Amino acid sequence: MDDIDLAAERVEVLNAAAIQAVLGKVETVPSTGICRACGEGIEADRLKANPYARHCRDCADEAEARAKMARRCGPR
Ligand SMILES: [Zn+2]
Repeated sequence: MDDIDLAAERVEVLNAAAIQAVLGKVETVPSTGICRACGEGIEADRLKANPYARHCRDCADEAEARAKMARRCGPR
């Protein structure tokens, strides 16, 4: 009986840890330093300014330009 209680408790602790890990991942995992779009390294000064940057400057600029273009043309 004690074993079962202990096991149940352990599962709860593990679940809590897993949830914390997932929640933490969303906001606090720093960038890998590799651009997700082109696979090139992200500029060091860019990472310094934003350790969570997911894209290199070129890809970020491109994404921004594309977003601006979409805004200018507007959705049809
Ligand atoms: Zn890139």
